[in-house]
Amino acid sequence: MGGLLSANLPFFWLPTTKAVITLPFQLTRDIYIYQSSIWQINSPVILNEAANIIIDPCYFPVEIQVIADFASRRKSFNKYVIFTHSDFDHIVGYQYFKGARLIGQEEFLYCDSEAQLYQLREIDQTYYINRRIPFVFPEIDITFENEYRIPLKGDELVLVHAPGHTADSIFIISREKKVMFAGDYISDLEFPFVYFNTAAYLRSLDMALKLVEEYGIRYVVPGHGDIAEGPEITERIRSDREYLSELVEKAQDLFVQGLQEREITDVLKGIKFRNEPIGGAMLKMHVENIRLVLTELRTF
Ligand SMILES: [Zn+2]
Repeated sequence: MGGLLSANLPFFWLPTTKAVITLPFQLTRDIYIYQSSIWQINSPVILNEAANIIIDPCYFPVEIQVIADFASRRKSFNKYVIFTHSDFDHIVGYQYFKGARLIGQEEFLYCDSEAQLYQLREIDQTYYINRRIPFVFPEIDITFENEYRIPLKGDELVLVHAPGHTADSIFIISREKKVMFAGDYISDLEFPFVYFNTAAYLRSLDMALKLVEEYGIRYVVPGHGDIAEGPEITERIRSDREYLSELVEKAQDLFVQGLQEREITDVLKGIKFRNEPIGGAMLKMHVENIRLVLTELRTF
């Protein structure tokens, strides 16, 4: 577009055709990744002869519409939307996928849907996000306890319960493509955010390591941020583990010494993640983790 033309356009001008927002990144045959411009949330799309599968479609309406248009390029009788967990940012787009069966771990049925709706409403109001299709909390069609498998042509998806971040978090593995979709674990952007339970979170990280080895995982696609490949996968898991176990152990020591909650929090604020002090917007999440650990210690 010429400079003159663009200079005459109002700053909010957008082309009216659809597919301009973004193109997906193709990770391997059949697997495409869309990334939202907010929170770098990843929405993987798996287009296989046996099924169309979307994981966590999100976030802005126009972004979700682009993903839905892309996914509908291949007609399929089997359509699934899989939720890695029930946090609002991961579930917001499912209504654009007509006829898709919704899959989630069974704890999803007991999540605090009101809290999620509240957060979504607040952010939509703050940023004037207009949802043409008003969001309704999803009713899950297929739930499972520990593991669920979806057969695909030449592949199989394995869904594994991985509680810790939330009670209903899961890992999803493509056996043939050796890709693991990790939900809100193993991100390059975030240290562990523990909303459910620290011991469960640590166990899920250990399980992630085992799954990476067992299935020979080559790529980990986190819920937020960049894909991890090769040695970076175990490095991210190791550093997540290091942060969380240091937090739990130090909290235990200080708690046993009889320090007050405020004193303990002040000391634990200094814990580093990947050798960097935690500051800025992330400090709030770190303090939330400290609070949860202290609650766990008190109720132990
Ligand atoms: Zn998230």
